[in-house]
Amino acid sequence: MQGFTTKIVHSDRLGVVEHGSLHKPVHATVAYGYEDAKDLAAVFQGKLAGFTYGRQVNPTVEALQAQVSGMEGGLASVCFGTGMAAIGTLLFALLRKGDHFVSSAFLFGNTNSLFMSFAAQGLEVTFVDATDAEQVAAAVRDNTKLVFVETIANPCTQVAALAEIGEFCRRRGLVYVVDNTMTSPYLFRPKEVQASLVVNSLTKYVGGHGTALGGAVTEMGAYDWRDFPNIYDTYKGADSKLWALTQIKKKGLRDFGATLAPEAAHHIAIGAETLALRMERQCANAAAMADFLNHRPEVGKVFYPGLPQHPQFERAAALFRRPGALFSFELDERLDIWAFMNLLKIIVKSSNLGDNRTLAIPVAHTIYYEMGPERRASMGINDSLIRISVGIEDLDDLIGDLHQALAGVAG
Ligand SMILES: *Cc1c(COP(=O)(O)O)cnc(C)c1O
Repeated sequence: MQGFTTKIVHSDRLGVVEHGSLHKPVHATVAYGYEDAKDLAAVFQGKLAGFTYGRQVNPTVEALQAQVSGMEGGLASVCFGTGMAAIGTLLFALLRKGDHFVSSAFLFGNTNSLFMSFAAQGLEVTFVDATDAEQVAAAVRDNTKLVFVETIANPCTQVAALAEIGEFCRRRGLVYVVDNTMTSPYLFRPKEVQASLVVNSLTKYVGGHGTALGGAVTEMGAYDWRDFPNIYDTYKGADSKLWALTQIKKKGLRDFGATLAPEAAHHIAIGAETLALRMERQCANAAAMADFLNHRPEVGKVFYPGLPQHPQFERAAALFRRPGALFSFELDERLDIWAFMNLLKIIVKSSNLGDNRTLAIPVAHTIYYEMGPERRASMGINDSLIRISVGIEDLDDLIGDLHQALAGVAG
């Protein structure tokens, strides 16, 4: 068994690589031509391997899909233009009007927004505290098809009861979807908790450089799709483990068109090669910064699964290689949050996460603003909460930046 990084950096060579290129080339093409019209037809009918039209298939994107499948230890993957497109297309392709799904209430804000949109279209959703598997179990109804959770939630870093929910889903025959974005396949393999499908926003840690958007859905092979009523007969091939992913790709990607561009796939594939190296550094920086803030008088609560006071400290230690590279903290509410943020010199005031650069954002006033004060309060987000996505800079520079800004704002 090769190690995580060895497998990624040699992944492209496992397929056909033109001229022995060490990187899969960027195939900037929409369509593919055939000498024999019968071959064209056979490819369309799935009887011959080949490429049809760029909305669903592209060699550069397929190379990235193979890379993602390798990272997750899954059977196969489909890539999308963004992480949101991956989640949206997955639900769009697999659920039908009147179906119900259970979701963690501690969600990436845009995923919350998407699920509200699906609810308005006729899907039923119940949000529960997924740090407790019993709350998931209590929300399940006769028409429940699927459970959706994130690994470490944003911004307060709750860790879902990933293993217990996986066991429950297996017993009840429910599809278990895990969004692995915050941990990335380097820190955590949802396969170990019996996930059926894994979602990754490739925009974040996998790409890492903040240069390209992308998303992926990976089939883990744990769910028997013969038990799932919403698969169309056309997508029922010889291997029933691939039925759902085939439907997501052939129908979801075709109907929705949320395609990943080959240039973006190339950026992400290059970034993915250093995922493990970056993650080690980012997580080490995050642990030290969270510990530093935890001891400062200007700071209230610090939310980081690597701190012993975190309610899921032990769960995170048991499940994840490291407790992540993102944390949040409450600035003492007597201090001016805007003055503090504006004193930061190295840490960038920005909304992304998973970048090589350290980024800070006042969450209540930005990404969770539209949600309103009530839902924010229910998620534990107060007005002085600042989220830090930790980058790869030198630790002394990051601590120094926090130190001078805290000293400056405390006067
Ligand atoms: C960013 C993010 C997404 C969405 O990814 P995009 O590529 O920005 O569309 C989904 N889930 C989580 C946990 C995220 O952090």
